[in-house]
Amino acid sequence: MADFDVVVIGAGPGGYVAAIRSAQLGLSTACIDEWKNAQGKQSLGGTCLNVGCIPSKALLESSENFERVSHDFSAHGITASDVQYDLAKMLARKDKIVSDFTSGIVQLFKKNKVTSLLGRAQLLGREGDFWRVGVEGGEEVRAKHVVIATGSTPRVLPQAPFDGINIVDNSGALSFTQTPKHLVVIGAGVIGLELGSVWRRLGAEVTLLEALPTFIPVADEQVSKEALRAFTKQGLKIHLGAQVNSVAQEAGTVKISWRDAQGVAQELVADKLVVAVGRVANTLGLGAETVGLKLDNGGRVVVDDHCRSNLPNVYAVGDVVRGPMLAHKASEEGVMVAELIAGQAGHCDLSVVPGIMYTAPEIAWVGKTEQQLKESGVSYKSGQFPFMANGRARSLGDASGFVKILADTKSDRILGVHIIGPMASELIQQAVLALAFSASSEDLARIIHAHPSLSEVVHEAALAVDKRAIHI
Ligand code: FAD
Ligand code: AMP
Repeated sequence: MADFDVVVIGAGPGGYVAAIRSAQLGLSTACIDEWKNAQGKQSLGGTCLNVGCIPSKALLESSENFERVSHDFSAHGITASDVQYDLAKMLARKDKIVSDFTSGIVQLFKKNKVTSLLGRAQLLGREGDFWRVGVEGGEEVRAKHVVIATGSTPRVLPQAPFDGINIVDNSGALSFTQTPKHLVVIGAGVIGLELGSVWRRLGAEVTLLEALPTFIPVADEQVSKEALRAFTKQGLKIHLGAQVNSVAQEAGTVKISWRDAQGVAQELVADKLVVAVGRVANTLGLGAETVGLKLDNGGRVVVDDHCRSNLPNVYAVGDVVRGPMLAHKASEEGVMVAELIAGQAGHCDLSVVPGIMYTAPEIAWVGKTEQQLKESGVSYKSGQFPFMANGRARSLGDASGFVKILADTKSDRILGVHIIGPMASELIQQAVLALAFSASSEDLARIIHAHPSLSEVVHEAALAVDKRAIHI
């Protein structure tokens, strides 16, 4: 039986980062993960690398390139006829990116001397200063500190259980070997909209059924409205306030019976159904009951601001705890926990976590939305600037959307930044930086921004807070 200072359970962006940082800080570290790829080999990186962030972005890029060549290039004077795509090649490219990165983690573990173990881990109990951790099919290990980073799994809709062929989760939706004729997606959240966009661009008719009456409620209302307009114009059929009653499979098709927002019974026939109705914390079989690990009603490990659980020296990070289910949040918590274990002052500020949707247009935000500020009675001012008035956006041929900055009326401190438009995913980072350093809108307004660049739209929005935007 091997003893370690730190044993991390789960090698997603929360777990593998926690393991590397622990090892960097001189702690003997093991990371246990059970994920295997289609070839039965261990595949580190968790949901994010295997079936989440990275493969979805690979397919979003490929499908967007196809759409651009087919529809947008003619405006540049470039014509291409009979444009085709090779789906098998597209999927192989995506798989290669995934396998390159998963083997990259193997190398990082080697370089940092992290012991990598394959198998399902279970907390067995306490033995002196150590926690005993069982590894299915392997030897038990002992750890002074345990970091639980077991992530999340797709939420199952009882009326539409996954069969992995016609009714699928994100994993299945990243691997269709043929473009569906009609794809129905239940859940118009980040995952549903990204995956729906991929297959629409590749030629599928895509219908999204969303239970809530509001579209992307986590985003700023103005951004959500603009997004709904843009996605609908592209051809995504989005039904809000939809209630899915039953799903039946008949002769290779999926029949979805649902009620629309007016309560009228409707029916859709699809060749594939993607269920993307959120994700649940993955604590099943972890031994929580055996060791008395406290979980909340959603099955998440209960933790404090420093990701400490109710048990001594047991931490939990990422999707398995409260907060947004995002890879960068998981990683940052992983770093914090490793530093705390090493006796340093770890810190992770959940009020400045950027949220991003990699649709076209891209959507990104950080801080408070206008509706949240109104609800909490905070007095704010707002500055907005459209990409349409920006030379770089016009040159790119992608000038829809805007940047909106919300700042405190009195102190001018930036409270929220909301972007819909080209490269919003990259532009948001300067807003994150501004919020992290408690910048005012004037701070941003007085910083030189390169010309011509998309970042000038952020600059102009900051100027607009003080009603002094130049180009509008
Ligand atoms: P995970 O990545 O889920 O990793 C958990 C790991 O633990 C897995 O490898 C699992 O096999 C292992 N494990 C679980 N239980 C055990 C056990 N008992 N023993 C051993 N191993 C175990 N986030 C973003 O920030 N940006 C994006 O663009 C983005 N896109 C996404 C797209 C899709 C389609 C999906 C599904 C998710 C996306 N996410 C995105 C969310 C992101 O993937 C998650 O927030 C992130 O992976 C969470 O990291 P984690 O380390 O907490 O858990
Ligand atoms: P996300 O949390 O971004 O993964 O998005 C999940 C989406 O699924 C949210 O917009 C939810 O409102 C939506 N959703 C959850 N349950 C259902 C349901 N039964 N039918 C349709 N949409 C749902």
